[in-house]
Amino acid sequence: MPATRSSNPLPDFLSAPLPPLPGIPEKRAALMKKLGIQNQKQLLFHLPVSLVDRRKNTPLGQAKAGDIITIKLEAEEHQPVPHPSSRRPYRIWCRDEQGERIVLIFFHVKGDYLQRQLPIGQWRIVSGRVEMAGDILTMPHPDYIVPLEREAEVRRVEPVYPLTAGVSNKMILNYLKRALPHLPDYPEWSDAEFIKKQKFVSWKEALFSLHHPQSAEMLEPLSPARQRLAYDELLAHQLALALARRKHTRESGQVLNGDGMLVQKLIASLPFTLTTGQQEVVCELSADMKKGHRMVRLLQGDVGSGKTIVALLLMLQAIEAGTQAALMAPTELLSRQHYNTIQALLNPLGIRVELLTAQSKAKKKLQQDIATGAVHLVIGTHALIEQSVAFKQLGLVVIDEQHRFGVQQRLQLIEKSKGTHVLMMSATPIPRTLALTCYGDMELSTLREKPAGRKPIDTRVLPLSRLMEVVEGLKRVIAQGSRIYWVCPLVAESEDLDLAAAEQRFEAMKVHYPRIGLVHGRMKQADREPTMQAFRKGEIDILIATTVIEVGVDVREATVMVIEHAERFGLSQLHQLRGRVGRGDKPSSCLLLYADSAGRTAHDRLKVMRETEDGFEIAEADMRLRGMGDMVGKKQSGFPDFRHADLSVHTSLLTIARDDAAYILNRDPELTSPRGEAVKKLLDLYDYEVFAGMKL
Ligand code: ADP
Ligand code: MG
Repeated sequence: MPATRSSNPLPDFLSAPLPPLPGIPEKRAALMKKLGIQNQKQLLFHLPVSLVDRRKNTPLGQAKAGDIITIKLEAEEHQPVPHPSSRRPYRIWCRDEQGERIVLIFFHVKGDYLQRQLPIGQWRIVSGRVEMAGDILTMPHPDYIVPLEREAEVRRVEPVYPLTAGVSNKMILNYLKRALPHLPDYPEWSDAEFIKKQKFVSWKEALFSLHHPQSAEMLEPLSPARQRLAYDELLAHQLALALARRKHTRESGQVLNGDGMLVQKLIASLPFTLTTGQQEVVCELSADMKKGHRMVRLLQGDVGSGKTIVALLLMLQAIEAGTQAALMAPTELLSRQHYNTIQALLNPLGIRVELLTAQSKAKKKLQQDIATGAVHLVIGTHALIEQSVAFKQLGLVVIDEQHRFGVQQRLQLIEKSKGTHVLMMSATPIPRTLALTCYGDMELSTLREKPAGRKPIDTRVLPLSRLMEVVEGLKRVIAQGSRIYWVCPLVAESEDLDLAAAEQRFEAMKVHYPRIGLVHGRMKQADREPTMQAFRKGEIDILIATTVIEVGVDVREATVMVIEHAERFGLSQLHQLRGRVGRGDKPSSCLLLYADSAGRTAHDRLKVMRETEDGFEIAEADMRLRGMGDMVGKKQSGFPDFRHADLSVHTSLLTIARDDAAYILNRDPELTSPRGEAVKKLLDLYDYEVFAGMKL
């Protein structure tokens, strides 16, 4: 990959870090990182989700609880806190021009701040939310208190941004006040006719106006400004996909013509017959690898659909042809699991399989054996490719559970192994139409059917109030020799809080069940391993976990999955978690415990879980139920992580963006025309700098 710096670097301003703000401690500024904001561009791309309208100057006589008003008040009396330890708030009685009264209420007041802000007998402009205490109007912590001559400082329409603990809306507004004047101008990259037809404004104007909304409608996903940004983002993504795809298809690949002996032997040794779907996929991909073109393909299939064996048969074809194969998994745990299964299957065939991880012993020797070709199949984590392990001749690389990569990461990964065929596998099904657009850089194969003989998982949805009953019921399950996964809730975006919840559950359950273990995201993989091992061996019966067990763990004796606060999980995540059970021949069950406060969409999600086990159906439902701005489980689903586009809303824009991308590249394959140059800026703007700087 010519990963040279882009030929069109962003103006320095956009990539500049946030400046220090007066009065904002360093630590607070660091919290912006939690919102994904580290530079000016990320700040400018952080859009408001709602607004506070302070345009009403309702006199107190007409104000109702909940109203946000901006009004002229005179302070009449201060009632300070009687003594410092008192819990009573500081109260200030005020009146408006009609003589109606209101009490401003303040907690945790320090010093004489309020005396200075609201001296008795003086008028101020005050803005905030009105509440009622009995029949007295109150306003707890007004948002603004300014002298009359500074009335202009009250932002009459104030955008409200997504926040996190420690980052206030004021802080974001402050950063933006400094950033917005520097918003750069770009030449238009989109089709002029189309822009006119959609009533779009320019990229810059769209961004600027979203940070100065005049009505709530302006912030809706279908407002022209939001659509403009969504479109730009989708266009950049589609261009990146098309460029990557074009690059792959132009490359030649090794011709892997095996004699079929190893493949036949393995098939004969399997305790089952391949499903029709598996056979079809193997045939198709096997032909792909013989053509002399490089294969870059995504195999989609639900958990348990039997992707591993498909990959294995193709790796054998590569080995038959005298080349090597590599299998990469996202975690050490998963690569070890793959190693155990695959070694057992391939050793009888005289194939040398090795596991290469950070902890591998005799690594030097192992690497030598890989370089000489003595090792046929290497299994490891994604680090395998990062460390650029030298192969004698790598014919096929298989990448398991790839949905965590974006198109740019995929390209970089693929580019690391020249001429090698690439098979990516994803256990997160997404609707086919969407797959074509999200993974348009690759060919797509799907395993829809599951191996026969699978027992359905009895899925129940219960209120959390029945938790003790569930705990009690585990006794029976354990007596039958089964094991249990117990997944603790996502408490917050903070891992610490998630962990606290899991630890609490662990301590409480330990009293009833001493044979119990705990694994969580804060543990290093190596520290999790002994507990996982104990669970696998049956030395413990219950595994308490945060969502770390989500991907790929395979324990056949585990037959019960309990998920606490299931309403907080996204559909695809619930589906992945449930897929951990039902792997053996005993009947399995999944208990989804929900809180009373669960909303309607949450209940709809749980209902889907109860009604189907088909990952593709669940993906469709996920798409349908994913309300605007509903962020639940977005990260875990197979959908790409767009900043401004929402695929459940902007579907029509997606189609247009795809056609537009094709049109642009058709007319100007090297992107050298003025519009092509603008398009490169767009790519850079949406973090596809590799494509912007790519030799086309
Ligand atoms: P995934 O697609 O989730 O990676 P796996 O490849 O791990 O699924 O397969 C899940 C289980 O199904 C494995 O134990 C595997 O041996 C088994 N399996 C795969 N194909 C078949 C088949 N055709 N018939 C019966 N069992 C199968
Ligand atoms: Mg798998």
